[in-house]
Amino acid sequence: MALFNELGLSTPITTALADCGYTEPTAIQAAAIPHALAGNDILAAAQTGTGKTAAFMLPSIERLQHHANSSVSPAMHPVRMLVLTPTRELADQIYANNKNYLKNINLRHTVIFGGTPIEPQKTVLQQGCEIVVATVGRLLDHWEQKSISLNKVEILVLDEADRMLDMGFIDDVRKIIKMLPDNRQILLFSATFAPEIRKLAEDFMHQPQIIETAAQNATADNVEQHLIAVDEWRKKDLLATLIHGLNIPQAIVFCNKKITVSQITRDLLKRNIAAASLHGDKSQSERLKTLADFKKGDVRILVATDVAARGLDISELPFVINYELPQQAEDYVHRIGRTGRAGANGVALSLIADAEQKLLDAILRLTSQDLKLEQIEHFEPSWLGSSYQSRQPEKNSAIKKISDKNDPAAKCEKIPGRKRLLRGRQGEVCALLLPNFGVR
Ligand code: AMP
Repeated sequence: MALFNELGLSTPITTALADCGYTEPTAIQAAAIPHALAGNDILAAAQTGTGKTAAFMLPSIERLQHHANSSVSPAMHPVRMLVLTPTRELADQIYANNKNYLKNINLRHTVIFGGTPIEPQKTVLQQGCEIVVATVGRLLDHWEQKSISLNKVEILVLDEADRMLDMGFIDDVRKIIKMLPDNRQILLFSATFAPEIRKLAEDFMHQPQIIETAAQNATADNVEQHLIAVDEWRKKDLLATLIHGLNIPQAIVFCNKKITVSQITRDLLKRNIAAASLHGDKSQSERLKTLADFKKGDVRILVATDVAARGLDISELPFVINYELPQQAEDYVHRIGRTGRAGANGVALSLIADAEQKLLDAILRLTSQDLKLEQIEHFEPSWLGSSYQSRQPEKNSAIKKISDKNDPAAKCEKIPGRKRLLRGRQGEVCALLLPNFGVR
């Protein structure tokens, strides 16, 4: 694999990357950076957690470097690069990365998103700023209020374009592209390519370089996946049992609705599991605080909807749990991409009730996988025939490894008030997975 300087990045950038601890480019970076540096439009299929932010930011910073200056005049700092994202969290994440990437280069950068006052953002924009990371809605607010000018934009990034489409932003994106000069470069990154995304590319991009470093809609192959069949009414107990039994240090638990997120968070808290929720009704400051608490480790389980979890970059998150399968099969790929980031290994557990089998079929079709349902002892679902042949855990399964740990504290956790589950001694629920997780 070539090093960053061999890809054409100069010393101010490569030294900043060394400070970030990046030793060599990821696959998407190695594939995208030379094309982006050459000024080509790019249509990249990139999984979450593959290093896609640096794949579009680094060549762009390199290309804009000649504009770097320390003048105080706003006219010397027009917007040269616009990065559009579907969510505030993703915008904030990119902004945080840019602080590192830009530390040796005199280009100004900012982030603008809704849910926070617009006036301070206007002040920053009026002073001049070369790189603006923005959510679609807030960018349009600024445009309407004439606090941003886009006639000097040279590079447009559309990050997680598939999500912008799902969230209904695609017409607004088209509107924004039309505000830009004709000769701008467009870098479009998307986990999946829906026909509307291809159409957008056809309409606005000039002979884009197509970059696919992983099979489209593929699930990250460093994520171990388990599909656990269970009755709907047992899911809460099973979730708590998995958290205790597998000694899960931290996980994101995905639910489809805000109300389920709230219910599950309350249930976990009742069981003395440090949980917090993240969904669209939370204020921006609440969301950022929850995220900070999770990153610090004060929150063990983050219960979230898809939209709220989008753009979270939590390194080394070991587990993702689908409390319910997503309605859109593509979201399964996004969800499990929250673990196994930047080459680390991760485990994705999905709790599957009878009514979710159609959703499961769609996911397996989309991801071209042939995964078998598993059962957990004492949580066998009533709907799966007794003749069903569950998958046997593989020898080097992370779950198996965890379950093999002879940790008495993990084996028998007290879960107050859950006597109904007892098969053992009063007041205790054994971690039922141990030592035979998944074996029937
Ligand atoms: P992204 O896909 O952009 O969200 O990046 C996922 C994670 O990988 C982030 O924590 C990045 O800081 C990290 N990362 C990106 N590029 C590299 C690299 N070349 N080496 C190590 N870590 C990286």
